[in-house]
Amino acid sequence: MIIAIDGPAGAGKSSVAKACAKKLGFKCLDTGAMYRSVAWLEVQEGVALDDDDALGQLARSCTIAFQHEAGNPIARGVSINGHDVTEAIRTAQIDKAVSPVSAAGQVREALVEEQRRIASGGDYVIEGRDIGTVVCPDAQLKIFLTASDEERAHRRVRQNADRGVGSIDYQEVLADIIRRDEADQNRGNSPLKPADDARVIDSTGTYIEDIIESICVLAALVQEGQEA
Ligand code: C5P
Repeated sequence: MIIAIDGPAGAGKSSVAKACAKKLGFKCLDTGAMYRSVAWLEVQEGVALDDDDALGQLARSCTIAFQHEAGNPIARGVSINGHDVTEAIRTAQIDKAVSPVSAAGQVREALVEEQRRIASGGDYVIEGRDIGTVVCPDAQLKIFLTASDEERAHRRVRQNADRGVGSIDYQEVLADIIRRDEADQNRGNSPLKPADDARVIDSTGTYIEDIIESICVLAALVQEGQEA
């Protein structure tokens, strides 16, 4: 079974996806980490952001690997071409570079192919922007998670503080979230939007635990063959 969780930056997708995967015994895939890893490589190699061919070549030839502790389906880190970039992909510099990199058609083609290959390997909760619309249009459960700009910025500041990486300046984080949403929603390739059959959940002012619980209930209904 595939559960697709899409939505804008800072909506709580990662926390919700990981918690649901843990409760359901599913694996979890963070597709944003894959785009961020390619953006990190772009910065290292100085590839021009408007060179679709060169960006595509980068995405096709790289190896992205998620690191797992034995028996834990939730990845503890990510590497690209053998470099551990778990923290390096969360910096403000990568927040900026990732939008143009992820808008490149050939990058999307390469990563979507890889994401579909991974998704074919069992039960997954997959989070991103285009999982329900493009990567797994046949996903049995599609969630589109949103929250107000302000709440998303507050959550991201807290998350960055906990991780010890990324900006903890509220205004800077808010501006980045708004800029990234605009770029993600208005790009030609796989823009951010809910799938027609997605359940839109607005998490503003809601406990994340309640959202996790309702998604797990929906997943159980789907697994039992009942309409969720
Ligand atoms: O989820 P996260 O905020 O880490 O994603 C970083 C960026 O990667 C997004 O702003 C978006 O530009 C891109 N992305 C995407 N498609 C996905 C996942 C992420 O374009 N499926």
